[in-house]
Amino acid sequence: MDSETASSLPIGPEAPGRASVLIPLALFTAYDYALPDGFTPPPGAFVSVPLGRRSVTGVVWGDGDLRIDATKLKQIEAALPVPALPDISRRFIEWVAAYNMAPIGSVLRMAMSVPDALEPERETKAWTIGDRTAGKLTEARARVIAALEDGAPLTTGDLADSAGCTPGVVAEMARRGMLRAVALPARRPFGVPDPDRKGPALSEAQQRAVDALVALEPGVTLLNGVTGSGKTEVYFEAIAACLRQGRQALVLLPEIALSAQWLGRFAERFGAPPAQWHSELTGLERRVTWRAVLDGEAKVIVGARSALFLPYRDLGLIIVDEEHESAFKQEDGVIYQARDMAVVRGHLAKIPVILASATPSLETVVNVDQGRYRALHLPDRHGGAELPPVTLIDLRRDKPERQQWLSPSLIRAVHEAIASEGQALLFLNRRGYAPLTLCRDCGHRMQCPSCTAWLVEHRYSARLQCHHCGYQTQMPPACPACGHSGTFAACGPGVERLAEEAALLFPQARRLIITSDTVGGPKKTTELIKMVTERAVDLIIGTQIIAKGHHFPHLTLVGVVDADLGLSGGDLRAAERTYQLLHQVAGRAGRAEKPGRVLLQTYDPDRPVMQALKDHDQTRFLRLEEEDRRVAGMPPFGRLAALIVSGRDEAAVESQVRIMAAAIPRGDIAAGVSVLGPAPAPLAMLRGRHRRRFLIKCRRETAPQPFLRAWLRGLKWPGDLKLQIDIDPYSFL
Ligand code: ADP
Ligand code: ZN
Ligand code: ZN
Repeated sequence: MDSETASSLPIGPEAPGRASVLIPLALFTAYDYALPDGFTPPPGAFVSVPLGRRSVTGVVWGDGDLRIDATKLKQIEAALPVPALPDISRRFIEWVAAYNMAPIGSVLRMAMSVPDALEPERETKAWTIGDRTAGKLTEARARVIAALEDGAPLTTGDLADSAGCTPGVVAEMARRGMLRAVALPARRPFGVPDPDRKGPALSEAQQRAVDALVALEPGVTLLNGVTGSGKTEVYFEAIAACLRQGRQALVLLPEIALSAQWLGRFAERFGAPPAQWHSELTGLERRVTWRAVLDGEAKVIVGARSALFLPYRDLGLIIVDEEHESAFKQEDGVIYQARDMAVVRGHLAKIPVILASATPSLETVVNVDQGRYRALHLPDRHGGAELPPVTLIDLRRDKPERQQWLSPSLIRAVHEAIASEGQALLFLNRRGYAPLTLCRDCGHRMQCPSCTAWLVEHRYSARLQCHHCGYQTQMPPACPACGHSGTFAACGPGVERLAEEAALLFPQARRLIITSDTVGGPKKTTELIKMVTERAVDLIIGTQIIAKGHHFPHLTLVGVVDADLGLSGGDLRAAERTYQLLHQVAGRAGRAEKPGRVLLQTYDPDRPVMQALKDHDQTRFLRLEEEDRRVAGMPPFGRLAALIVSGRDEAAVESQVRIMAAAIPRGDIAAGVSVLGPAPAPLAMLRGRHRRRFLIKCRRETAPQPFLRAWLRGLKWPGDLKLQIDIDPYSFL
């Protein structure tokens, strides 16, 4: 008897004859179904069940409720012939749903994101040689036979390609029996990584970190070291150790850090590509990968946050690289923080979790200080490369020309860098041409019709765009308010406008603009990055898309055009994020033999975050931040949760939040909890929906969930009113 059968439901006189089945829809509970005679699926089994008039796939979750008369229940229709969803996956789904107050069915849906992966694998038809004499052996047909002579079966397309004939020739040969069809399993988009290939010789500090990590003790470890210190090399060794135990390893990366460079290094170390999980996969790649994770065939999985919910057969290690990145927070559907959930996943499975970062989040640093996480430190850049010196440019003194954004010192530095055969990067984290377009005659501002947001001009595509909802329109011929034409003025710079300025100032330089509008996904990014590494360009103008994970060996100057950009807006983590982003951008300079330098343009050089960047003094900066948050009782010294109520009818939203305000729980359950609001959210309208916010603040020892449950229980949500619950919010818009 194998372990799966052993843990199946009891049979015999006490047999409940029923099971609860969780269905991957926005449901808060599993539904009960009757079991057909003699059928005892183990917990986790994928089954098909009737739901309304449909048949859906769900997962056996528990025993079912004995109080319900089994004869009234509908029957489970069939079990699918795939391995059960492992126990830990189910406990993880329960945990994520409870903590984030999301419907458990929606969380299961994230784990079952590829429904057709449960169907029998579709095979591709391929050809081998059949009866050669069944038709006339023309020249083209002879080439087809030759292409198959020394080896593996080929699909019609591949065969036609290698024989240099049309698919029609192949089809005709097949019809005559000259070729024989065989079924091929789908190609695996990953390989079998070999842990025992030789990695690079490690420095002493790297080796110490590796020694600590390969022990693979359960618990969380922060791997901290400046960009280029070898964190990736070090965690590769932890992956190797995990592979030697025959277990699976997961590397979570922000999607834009999942670069061809990363994949190339992985393949070099392990001799095979890892399984990937990101938005650019084809349907077939998704299906094959999901199944291979469940079967235990995919050994190393690298992916964006949703990879956390894949059905790992035996996960032995989780690495969260760039753990400080806010991209780990999923902001729609089920709202969750993937880094934090990775820690939970590791805890449930009693496996190690490694958080890697050059600029760890304050949350993680405090967890280290308080002894909950271990920390390993890599002090130096590999090969002794120095961190580039950072100079602050005070824009109040070193003024750019009118309607320009580069100060004289920065312009000079770009000229010097290019003249001495280096490359320069001008960084501005703002897409498009200008963030605001206004009418000079009447002051009208071009605004999104469905959001509280300005339309951003994109001159390359000749459109105005809302960056919140995706609304697009052409630039109108005249001002919609006063009817005058030719009165529009672009206010402020985006990268496109900066590129225009650069073209004026550095006409001889080969320039390249890199933003998410000019690159699609990882594949296109790779092409552009290659142009940089192969020195096909002198000057790069880009947004944060170039800041992560890329290594530019010839880059000697980084100019940050507006270092203050991320600091406005009253976000709890604004300074911390600015530090992380600018430190990361700065780290692009001088990574090889050539020393680099970094210039930051700011209107407020005395701010602690600017001083910390200048002095490379992360610790001092974090201590100051920590103190501010401790005093204010803000995370990680207190907890936050946000409720956003939205609807198309503003009056209905307003009346709903008034009802809610009157229902705020009091008494014991409210001890240590305070509620701020309701107030219009800063994005008071989004996609045509009016939004009001409550912010719930608790002491660290108090969990907000019981309070929220008590509050929300029994509230009705008439019409199209919607409630979004955001535990540990990162966005305050
Ligand atoms: P991090 O992840 O900390 O930014 P990486 O692991 O990407 O650092 O290392 C930075 C660069 O240095 C990479 O090109 C890497 O191949 C190289 N490197 C790091 N450690 C070593 C080593 N021990 N031997 C050779 N090259 C190394
Ligand atoms: Zn909009
Ligand atoms: Zn006007």
